[in-house]
Amino acid sequence: MAVSIEEARSAVLEHAAVLDAEEVSLDDALGRALAVDATAPNDVPPFAASAMDGYAIVAADTAGGSARLALIGEAKAGTAAGVSVATGTAVRISTGAPIPQGADAVVPQELTSLEGSAVTVEQAVRLGRHVRPAGEDIRAGGLIVHAGSLLGPAELGVLASLNIPRPSVVRRPRVAIVGTGDELTDPGRPLKPGAIRDSNGPALGGAVHRAGGELASRLRAGDDLDATVAVLSAALRDVDMLITTGGVSVGPHDHVRPALSRLGFREVFAGVDLKPGRPTTFAVGDDGTLVFALPGNPVSALMAFRLFVVPALDAMLGRDREVHPVQAIAAEDLPGALGRTTVVRCRTRLHEDGWYVFPTKSQESHILTSMLGVEALALVPADREFIAAGEPVDIEFVA
Ligand code: AMP
Ligand code: MG
Repeated sequence: MAVSIEEARSAVLEHAAVLDAEEVSLDDALGRALAVDATAPNDVPPFAASAMDGYAIVAADTAGGSARLALIGEAKAGTAAGVSVATGTAVRISTGAPIPQGADAVVPQELTSLEGSAVTVEQAVRLGRHVRPAGEDIRAGGLIVHAGSLLGPAELGVLASLNIPRPSVVRRPRVAIVGTGDELTDPGRPLKPGAIRDSNGPALGGAVHRAGGELASRLRAGDDLDATVAVLSAALRDVDMLITTGGVSVGPHDHVRPALSRLGFREVFAGVDLKPGRPTTFAVGDDGTLVFALPGNPVSALMAFRLFVVPALDAMLGRDREVHPVQAIAAEDLPGALGRTTVVRCRTRLHEDGWYVFPTKSQESHILTSMLGVEALALVPADREFIAAGEPVDIEFVA
């Protein structure tokens, strides 16, 4: 019995448990999900610092609209201020240098003139002007980056500020890919009559990497039950997830489901009311290994990956990435199929009244080039034969 997209997704999430954590260097942490909350051990900045190159002064000295101050020293970035500022005096200061004791404002160099050791300030300076107070960015003790956050460049910088050189991140899921079909040939090899290129292998390998997984192996099985069992069992060694393509329909040469059953996997669903991607099958092993048996057609395989495997990988990675459905307007008619949700590959354009979506080209599941330049997937509901131009439609942006 086929399930709806929503039923399939929640069944997948029920079985996708977050993996254990490991510590990695900040240089290796890009794109990983933080495993534990990161809190601030100290204020950032750790001391009151100057925001400008200029002079640290007592603001009240300039209350009359100008002042002539005695230059008594210098505060540089990277050293503790050795001098203190009293009424009538000024200390030369660089951006990032600690504010010397007694000073309560910084006047930028451009607003001053220097003659010998006399600094003339040409205008009144506000108390606290150009001073970055300690803790202005981050307060000691604060929870700054939540567990589950995806670490991008900004997060890496913040973790460095928090003095976390080796953040604890969730281990990457190890994923094996098995393509099935006697017809499959690697690019670069001569193509025998009746053979085609294996495009799913590289496409899904890239999809696994992009979704945060680690590719454990990429194998291929011919259309034979014993061979399929042998290849799947080799691929299953030491992985968290297995993805197969092809051989999952009802043809006489479709051996993936019988092979999985022989290997002791339990089917959670076999078939989704989805176009393209109907044969998509999901099974689990006793040890929690997840198996996605995706259809062979390249578009179907990538669609099913996007709809079901990405959420599973997100969950295993502990990523708190929510899918926010967006409503768009169909710029052209969008094809539907009664009884199945149709996923239409689209480009998008933002107009004053919102997002518009345009189907890329033929939406047949073997037209792999319909995936080129896709920015969003439009979901035409199962009870609609089509969505007419100008009608609203739910879309999901493709990251
Ligand atoms: P199947 O589900 O095995 O019947 O395959 C459905 C269609 O997808 C057939 O036309 C296959 O030749 C094609 N196909 C299966 N696997 C791949 C692959 N790895 N790369 C490209 N096309 C494939
Ligand atoms: Mg096949």
